[in-house]
Amino acid sequence: MATLHTLGIVGAGQMGAGIAHVAAAAGLTVLLADADRGRAEAGKAGVAKRMARAVEKGKLEAAAMHAALERITPVDDVGAFGPAQLAIEAVSENEALKSRIFADLDAVLGDTAIRATNTSSIPITRLAARTKFPERFIGMHFMNPVPVMELVEIIRGLATSDATYEATQGLAQRMGKTTVVTRDMPGFAINRILMPMINEAVYTLYEGIASAEDIDTGMKLGTNQPMGPLTLADFIGLDTCLAIMEVLHQGLGDTKYRPCPLLRQYVEAGWLGRKTGRGFHTY
Ligand code: NAD
Repeated sequence: MATLHTLGIVGAGQMGAGIAHVAAAAGLTVLLADADRGRAEAGKAGVAKRMARAVEKGKLEAAAMHAALERITPVDDVGAFGPAQLAIEAVSENEALKSRIFADLDAVLGDTAIRATNTSSIPITRLAARTKFPERFIGMHFMNPVPVMELVEIIRGLATSDATYEATQGLAQRMGKTTVVTRDMPGFAINRILMPMINEAVYTLYEGIASAEDIDTGMKLGTNQPMGPLTLADFIGLDTCLAIMEVLHQGLGDTKYRPCPLLRQYVEAGWLGRKTGRGFHTY
């Protein structure tokens, strides 16, 4: 593929905006879409706020911030993604929604463009099979918060071509990320290990074994993690955690992945964690 210069990102929530941030900082032109233009604008405003904080702390030059922000254009919808050589989907963790987005992308992207998904758990092969060019489809799983976390988990679907893999790997490197490659199975590798731990922390709370504060302090100080599992769940979003556990449970068919009923109840209450101001902790 010719040098990659334009990226389309659909979903301007915490992950999509984070990907836009690092892509623009790496010199790429970014077209940013969400369910509507206002949300895409809000995603960009979030990037501006985080970059301004980095400037205040002396970690980023003001000129570099302005140049990066100029490279991000919020658009009405993916209909504007024609010039994109690679599109990354970062909408909510819902398979039907993601499939609809990829059908829309097929109608607008050029035949050589790469389609990448930031899904946390949904099999790449299954999403790819519903698109026009499964060989140009790949999983590009960024970690949250994207500007801070160094890893990108790359997941090849059964049909993903070597050229698609190499271009994606090159893009991740250009964004300053380290990559690992994992096989396409529900939850891949990182969330296959992380989410059952978070789910078990919720069971530990549910069964009254320890308070949320003690679970987090215990795991933080006792296992040397930067934050406790319930704080991390709040940070990821409890809706996303539940969706990932559902994919693991259904996709791998093992009862050990059964989502904790308390996790489900919090999601039903709209207590989704940091993004709604309340989860296992209040913000
Ligand atoms: P989020 O809720 O912050 O953002 C999701 C965005 O999708 C929202 O802005 C929403 O408006 C948008 N959206 C919903 N329907 C849409 C539509 N029809 N068209 C366009 N946009 C639409 O969620 P997030 O945490 O950014 O997660 C996004 C994806 O990234 C999910 O697949 C999630 O599993 C994955 N992911 C999340 C994390 C994490 O820690 N939160 C980490 C890695 C990957």
